[in-house]
Amino acid sequence: MNKVILRPHREESILRLHPWVFSGAIASIEGNPAEGELVEVLSSELKPLAVGHYQIGSIAVRILSFTEDPTQPDFWEKMLSRALQLRKSFGLEGSANTNCYRLVHGEGDGLPGLIIDYYDGVCVFQAHSAGMFLAREAICEALKTVYGDALKAVYDKSSGTAPFKAGLPLADGYLYRRPGFDSDEAVVLENGNKFYVNWNEGQKTGFFLDQRENRLRVGNLAKGRNVLNLFCYTGGFSIYALAGGALHVDSVDSSKLAMGMVDRNVALNAFDPSAHTSYTADAIDFLKSIPKGKYDLIIVDPPAFAKHRGALKNALRAYQRLNEAAISKVAPGGFVFTFSCSQVVDKEAFALAVFSAAAATGRSVRILDRLNQPADHAVNIYHPEGEYLKGLLLYVE
Ligand code: SAH
Repeated sequence: MNKVILRPHREESILRLHPWVFSGAIASIEGNPAEGELVEVLSSELKPLAVGHYQIGSIAVRILSFTEDPTQPDFWEKMLSRALQLRKSFGLEGSANTNCYRLVHGEGDGLPGLIIDYYDGVCVFQAHSAGMFLAREAICEALKTVYGDALKAVYDKSSGTAPFKAGLPLADGYLYRRPGFDSDEAVVLENGNKFYVNWNEGQKTGFFLDQRENRLRVGNLAKGRNVLNLFCYTGGFSIYALAGGALHVDSVDSSKLAMGMVDRNVALNAFDPSAHTSYTADAIDFLKSIPKGKYDLIIVDPPAFAKHRGALKNALRAYQRLNEAAISKVAPGGFVFTFSCSQVVDKEAFALAVFSAAAATGRSVRILDRLNQPADHAVNIYHPEGEYLKGLLLYVE
């Protein structure tokens, strides 16, 4: 195995089990590792520290193991079994009313660069590193062992996320399909609500599994309320609001494809179609166009405004503008669920942006709750960067 030798004192983060080696920490590289190859990481005194996937870029090594040999044939099976066991331990895998969840959340499951979402027997594989992309066949084999007969298919959705400087031709497609399985779409159950998920045409792996628990919160507050779901995607929050007894739900997304799915999901759950309206529109334009007080529950769940640190300032301004519009429009005694999924915007910065938004409206606003990502999007305590979804539940008078 090729070796990466660190500069003096740069082993400290690894000794604290942080799973990344930044390129600036490297003194020398022995051999000529290709992107995605396993490398051994050694301290400046040549003490072996870890083994991980090498990549050209600011994160040069993503660590797979501090103790075990990741070249052992059962490595993937062991890691995926651990991930599944965790989801079983809190009742998500095996639940009667939820059959979709995140099986692997990158560093949170000790597998930096890997996302696997599970949709009732279909695993959608998404590599965010060259190493995970190159390991896809082995990971697929391990999924077959871990899930056994329950596995219907493994779909690789890495073309937009697996980074290769060398420019491999990437195309999404099936790594495995059980004989007779020929659909790009499934109906999944989340807290008893049904959703179509299309991993081929949909955004990310097909569905935003990270809002499962926050959707429950919306459902519990929706009874008798007029609800506006902004950035609704396939209507996750809308379906829970309707199930919770909302008077009426308006769903807004700029994606026509997503809005088509919202309508199908409303029909799938057999709700009265007159209780729901779909709008293919820009969320900010929509907010500007509505009269004050029309809605008494507004959900604001935009895409990540900041994908990297450089975009932070503009992103915070955008969160502020958006939240100011939502807070100013919600009816007195109404609720605003507001979220940010930008990893670089931390809880405090987001809360500050929402504070500035509230202050600009001059209304009385109280924080009733702070919202998070659910347990299947686990955060490795040694890798706090894994925490990305944050939200506030506001009460506005
Ligand atoms: N709340 C959703 C997930 C939202 S993801 C759920 O529970 O599933 C963010 C969504 O914002 C995407 O569907 C994207 O199409 C939409 N979007 C992005 N920019 C937008 C804009 N300017 N106006 C409205 N929707 C937008």
